[in-house]
Amino acid sequence: MELRKDYILDRWVIIAPDRGKRPEEFKSEDDIYAHDKGAGSCFFCPGNESQTPPEIGRIKDDSTGKWKIRWFANKFPAVDKTSTPAVKTDNTFFTYGDAYGDHQVIVETPDHSKQLPDLSEDEIMQLLKVFSHRVDELGDQPGTKYVSIFKNSGPKAGTSIIHSHCQLITLNKVPPDIQEKLDAIKKFESCPYCDIIKTESKSLRHVHEDDTTLTFTPYASRFNFEVWIFPKHHYKRFSDFSDDELFDVAAALKRVLRKLKELNANFNIGFFYAPEGEDLHFHIEIMPRIANWAGFELSTGVVINVVSPEDAAKFYKGEHKQES
Ligand SMILES: [Zn+2]
Ligand SMILES: [Zn+2]
Repeated sequence: MELRKDYILDRWVIIAPDRGKRPEEFKSEDDIYAHDKGAGSCFFCPGNESQTPPEIGRIKDDSTGKWKIRWFANKFPAVDKTSTPAVKTDNTFFTYGDAYGDHQVIVETPDHSKQLPDLSEDEIMQLLKVFSHRVDELGDQPGTKYVSIFKNSGPKAGTSIIHSHCQLITLNKVPPDIQEKLDAIKKFESCPYCDIIKTESKSLRHVHEDDTTLTFTPYASRFNFEVWIFPKHHYKRFSDFSDDELFDVAAALKRVLRKLKELNANFNIGFFYAPEGEDLHFHIEIMPRIANWAGFELSTGVVINVVSPEDAAKFYKGEHKQES
């Protein structure tokens, strides 16, 4: 068992591998399809477009004229634009503001039966391009400091609608987790993630590499089977990638999600990029939601992770047969 600090953050985990367990034994019992009413009654399916809030945009399939990806405001937003972006302080203790911003849903596919890992690399690349445009367009709005793009997959990851979709929420301040990374990076002379990529490309946590990306399980993984995807170049935003490079990112993402599907694991995905005027090496964090954080994690911020990132890397590489 090992106490580990994140690469650059003051964030600690205890790696406590449960060596008796094979990855298959972490397979979730939750059947995320059990309560789904199916394509006919799903608001996100083709034919039911009038039941969502007004459409903001779509990507059309040139051969059929129908939509492939579609986005609109979230019906139950966490933020809204009727408020103001100002943050105020009354006195030493109370700093507050409105939850100002946009909350949108991006439906990834018209096919109700497919989840993100089932989409082709091309389809996932198209989705990443939509993210790129959404970040650029919404990020330019006055009062918007960050556009958070994320995915919830499965009930343990916070999703309620099975039809595969991502969400975005714009914020009127750089969110604390991003700010913490930005502050930590400033303590280094050059980008620490560029060096971390070099180190992890030769480590036991290395999962996959191509011309564009490196996939690895982070040294201080907080989640069972947590995995990160980084561009090898110091790219800061979606728009820094060429289409070919985005295809490689899509393929890397599909690769790990296909593997994660073997565990029937619920998961979250976070897409991290540099806010305007800041420097942050773009990356994607895939956070499987297998274990529940309990009292110790919630009262200390120190996470007990029973799957070592080194074992998780073996799982992603298909080398997880139990050692004798
Ligand atoms: Zn549907
Ligand atoms: Zn870098």
